[in-house]
Amino acid sequence: MKYQHLSQQDSAVWEIIKKEEQRQNEELELIASENYVSPAVLEAMATVLTNKYSEGYVGRRYYGGNYNIDDIESLAIERAKKLFGAEHVNVQPLSGSPANAAVYMAFLNPGDKVLGLKLDHGGHLSHGHRVNFSGRLYNFVQYGVNLQTGIIDMAEVREIALREKPKMIVAGFSAYSREIDWQKFKDIADEVGAYTFADIAHIAGLIAAKQLTNPVPIFDVVSTTTHKTLRGPRGAIIMCREKFAKQVDSAVFPGMQGGPHDHITAAKAVAFGEALQAEFVDYSRQIISNAQAMAEEFIKFGYQIISGGTDNHLMVLNLTNKNLVGKEAEKILEKIGISISRSTIPNDPNSPLNPSGIRLGTPALTTRGMKEKEMKIIVNFINQAFQNKDQENKLSSLKQEVKELCNNFPIPTKEK
Ligand SMILES: *Cc1c(COP(=O)(O)O)cnc(C)c1O
Repeated sequence: MKYQHLSQQDSAVWEIIKKEEQRQNEELELIASENYVSPAVLEAMATVLTNKYSEGYVGRRYYGGNYNIDDIESLAIERAKKLFGAEHVNVQPLSGSPANAAVYMAFLNPGDKVLGLKLDHGGHLSHGHRVNFSGRLYNFVQYGVNLQTGIIDMAEVREIALREKPKMIVAGFSAYSREIDWQKFKDIADEVGAYTFADIAHIAGLIAAKQLTNPVPIFDVVSTTTHKTLRGPRGAIIMCREKFAKQVDSAVFPGMQGGPHDHITAAKAVAFGEALQAEFVDYSRQIISNAQAMAEEFIKFGYQIISGGTDNHLMVLNLTNKNLVGKEAEKILEKIGISISRSTIPNDPNSPLNPSGIRLGTPALTTRGMKEKEMKIIVNFINQAFQNKDQENKLSSLKQEVKELCNNFPIPTKEK
């Protein structure tokens, strides 16, 4: 009974948490940015470290009593350095978007020109979308993917860079299924004298496990969330060359944030420790094999995948030829206990709120121990749901099948 205080003291909160745990256990999570953390990561988050204020950095805090916090932050930094081969790491960013805000603050002035990937081509809001702080504070110009191939057109990136002369080039994505040519980005940036910033939020785990190319030795600065393929607590880190350490650190604190979340720092250290184990390499390989098996099965059923397949953990499906839009697909799948996220397709004729596609990923399914065989079963569930979208009976029997599959693959939880 590890949660006895919460369950006895506040049943209103506890009941909701239990329900969410049940939902996570009984439903399939195909949202590419989600994962299940280990019991050890969960435990680290639920500790007294949350009680502490630690503004500042190791050995230079603005509050007393931080000698244990210094140890935990140092450990997280050392492990992250080892994992990514980074010269300098800041483990304090509260999440991905604040980390990116700190990166921009460290290298740019408001109004400076930045080159980033278009949101509807797979970029992230914080890469210059007009509704986001990034698009409001900085002068973003954007590159996209080739509409025929669905792959980033490096010749176009170079052309735009030469024409626009940005102060920074951002590479990274939320919905792109191919390898990024980091070196090519660096060469282009060098030609125009721009800083290089890689946002590896989605693929950090696959990079840590050496399944995808690592931009850390190539780029000036790299940010990542810790809660996606890296399978840690919600949060982020920034990695950079030693010569940028000071400006990055002071952009995070006091520039962007106050006190770090020390319990989350501890959980980051635990997650990095897990990612340094050999099993994490097997896990990452399986994520990619599973995504490729899933993509193949979708193609068999006549679905269109942007770029025709995947090199990583995710894929974007254009549902136009299936007479579906993203939101409708999301609703149908929710009825059978499958969570996905709607997604734009490149140059989407529909709005971002109701785009033409969906994005699917395998990190969470793979954490549960599912393999290629289960991917095929799941694609079959999805296809059947779409084909029988108006038949409530069929949908509820599919929901039952989803639940039965889930029963064989329990999620990692604290109580065991
Ligand atoms: C998820 C993501 C982020 C933002 O992370 P939050 O923690 O949700 O703020 C930033 N950049 C990219 C590329 C992402 O995929």
